[in-house]
Formats: sequence, structure tokens, C-alpha cells
Amino acid sequence: MQMLVLTLFPDMFDAFWSHGIMRKAVEQGSIVAAAMNIRDFALDRHHVTDDRPYGGGSGMVMKPEPLAAAIRAARERAPAARTILMSPQGRVFDQTIAREMASLPAMILVCGRYEGVDERLSRDLISDELSIGDYVLTGGEVAAMVVIDAVTRLIPGVLGGADSAERDSFSNGLLEHPHYTRPPVFEGAAVPDVLLTGHHRNIERWRLEASLMRTFVNRPDLLQERKRTDEETDILRRWQAELDQLLGERLEKTTLGCE
Ligand code: SAM
Repeated sequence: MQMLVLTLFPDMFDAFWSHGIMRKAVEQGSIVAAAMNIRDFALDRHHVTDDRPYGGGSGMVMKPEPLAAAIRAARERAPAARTILMSPQGRVFDQTIAREMASLPAMILVCGRYEGVDERLSRDLISDELSIGDYVLTGGEVAAMVVIDAVTRLIPGVLGGADSAERDSFSNGLLEHPHYTRPPVFEGAAVPDVLLTGHHRNIERWRLEASLMRTFVNRPDLLQERKRTDEETDILRRWQAELDQLLGERLEKTTLGCE
């Protein structure tokens, strides 16, 4: 996949492309990545890319001309690309969007700075706006890195283990189970026995149950949005029975307002 980033700070990406999985993805050609400097497309003598907002107010706004020229130049390099503006006002990025994006042939990520970009830019040149969460960053570069990282690890052949991305949190709508490595006991805490047995089926069952438990405790909203398998329903029913036993039927019914 071709990934072009339009930014006022292209150097920020040098370190990003050169480490770990990103570096591997670049070296093996899974992604072709480049950061283009928006300032290079400002045609005035001082290469100005921002200006004061019409109507007054604090902060500066990114001028539309250099941005439009940068996007057009990026589109010449990657004609099939989707052009995405990083913005706290965009669709909130998640694993489902990352999966969709992993099958794109190319993407152009536009990084804003200051108060953001001139509104008129969005009309023709931007296909989509993406936010990485409900908070405001200083610029779109870190957000673009988040998107690129999450998408890259979903491109086939990028991760070592064939199924490691499939087991990640959110891939099947749950948080992933906990992981352990050696030593078997660390500061008094032992690895769960089942993981040392080599019994594949029991390990899978334990992992599913641990995954459900984590999701239930940390992100119960995910369980509500998702269709359960029969095995998961069995596990939840068993928990329910165990809780009923612990609390006593009557107490539970009163709490839920059934009586
Ligand atoms: N004034 C804008 C607003 O209130 O919506 C915020 C501008 S922000 C300081 C500057 C740039 O950072 C934005 O144009 C965008 O590119 C990037 N940015 C900030 N927060 C972001 C987020 N949560 N997700 C994606 N990009 C973000």
C-alpha cells in the first residue's frame, strides 16, 4: 500500500518509518511510505502556510492554496488514493475502520496544525475526516502515525505470526486475553496452571473466558454491541449461575427490581 503524509513537519516521520514493524513493512515493500512537506507547495517568497482567521479570534488557519497543491501533487503520485484529513471532528478511528483501510491500494493523510485547515478545502479534495479520539492534539502528525501503524499491522504478511492480528483486541469484538512468558513465577505471581499443561483445547477455553472477563470488566459496552457465540453464551450463563449462588436468588431479584 502506498502511504503519503502531507505535513509541515516531515522529519517527525523519519524515526517512525525506521523502527520495528513499520521498518519491516517498508523494507519488504508491504508499504511504500513518504512524508511530503506542505511548505514546499507554498509559492510565495516566504513559503507561508498559515494566516489569520476571517472574523477574528486567536490562532492561525492553514491556508488552502498550499494544501490543495500538496494534495494534487500527492494524487499524481498515488492516483487511486483515498485522501483523509486528520481532524478531531472526524469519524472516530477504530479497528473496523483500520481493517477497511488495510485493503486500500493507497492513502494520503493530511495533517493539520494551528486551528486547523481552511474549511473550503474539505469540499473537493478530502474524501474523509478521521479522528483518533475525543481530545485535541497540537497537530495531525501523531494521529496519522496512529492510523498508519494500526493499518500497517493488518496488511497481510506484515506481522510474523500468521494469526497474531486476528487475535488482537477488537478483532472479534472482545479485548484480548492476558499474556504470560517466563519465568513461571514473578514476584510471587504464578502463571495460570492451565497455560503450562500443553492441553490446547483447555488453553483456548481459558483464553476465551479470560477475554470475556476482561471485556466485561473494562469495556462492557463492547459486549452489548456484539453477537455472541454459543460457547460464549455458555460461559456467561455459568458466571450468572455462580453469581446467583453467591448472592442468593432473592437478593438479586430485589436489586434488579423484579419484586
Ligand atoms: N481547532 C480545531 C478544533 O477545535 O476542532 C482543532 C485543531 S488542532 C489544534 C490542529 C490539528 O491537529 C487538526 O487540524 C488535526 O489535523 C489534528 N488533530 C487534533 N486532534 C486530533 C484528533 N483527535 N484526531 C485527529 N487529528 C487531530
